[in-house]
Amino acid sequence: MAIWNLGSINIDMVYALPHMPQPGETLAATSFEQGLGGKGANMSVAAARAGAHACHIGAIGPEGKWCVDRLTEYGVDTRHIAQIDTATGHAIIAVDPAGENQIILYPGANRVLSEDQIGQALSAANAGDILLIQNETNMQAEAAEMGRKLGLRVAYAAAPFDADAVQAVLPFMDLLFLNEVEAAQLEEATGKAPHDLDVQDVIVTLGAKGARHFDGRSGDVTDIPALKVTPVDTTGAGDTFTGYVLAALDRGLPMAQAMAQASRAGALMVTRHGAADVIPDLKEVQNAKF
Ligand code: ADP
Repeated sequence: MAIWNLGSINIDMVYALPHMPQPGETLAATSFEQGLGGKGANMSVAAARAGAHACHIGAIGPEGKWCVDRLTEYGVDTRHIAQIDTATGHAIIAVDPAGENQIILYPGANRVLSEDQIGQALSAANAGDILLIQNETNMQAEAAEMGRKLGLRVAYAAAPFDADAVQAVLPFMDLLFLNEVEAAQLEEATGKAPHDLDVQDVIVTLGAKGARHFDGRSGDVTDIPALKVTPVDTTGAGDTFTGYVLAALDRGLPMAQAMAQASRAGALMVTRHGAADVIPDLKEVQNAKF
């Protein structure tokens, strides 16, 4: 089976600053690091690291070729990533000595995907494969509808939260991933709590408090506790969790086991600085001592 991920690819540029810049101020950074990021790329890497065939559908500009090379290196199938004549999505991340950050995000190539490109990619999908979507691209609802028609299981991570995008994808969704903040935003926008949604599986991640599964058929609610770790950087924990859950479901594991494995992967992830480049593989996740 396979996971088809319509997702963003971002270049994360991280600058350490003595303090946050004021309007009009020019400020020299004390260090600079560049890495691969974007919720889409993170989730593709997590799914591939967890052992799934993860096929990324997305786009980059001319200066983003290294991102595709890196995704390939991490085991992601990159044949449906288009190279177009628009800037690669990127995030300029300023971090102050207290660890607070400010982020400028430029979506660029991530937001100019075409229905044709997605249709072409999904023409190679098989019924029962998973289609994963987030909110850092365009074409969410079109892709979800296509996926449903093809008999794919449509999974949606409603991040960054966008009420209109969620409402548009909702009718085609089989699995929904939300963090605690997004779950509250969804309730505010629709008047519906996770257990009131007409979705087969809803997963709400709760950071250090673990994660909760709402089974839309039985109404059962299952809590998966978090593991005890000392967090140093929570970037990518949710994306890693999502990729790991889907990879495990794709292998045929039941939801509780899939979430337990994802919880180990998420816990490891918060002990590391960085995003896609530091997502653990399945062996590390299975062998980790907590
Ligand atoms: P997001 O990054 O989307 O906000 P969460 O913070 O809810 O997502 O984290 C996703 C998952 O990663 C959690 O459900 C949990 O399993 C794991 N996780 C996150 N933070 C911690 C933490 N401090 N300690 C242990 N596990 C964590």
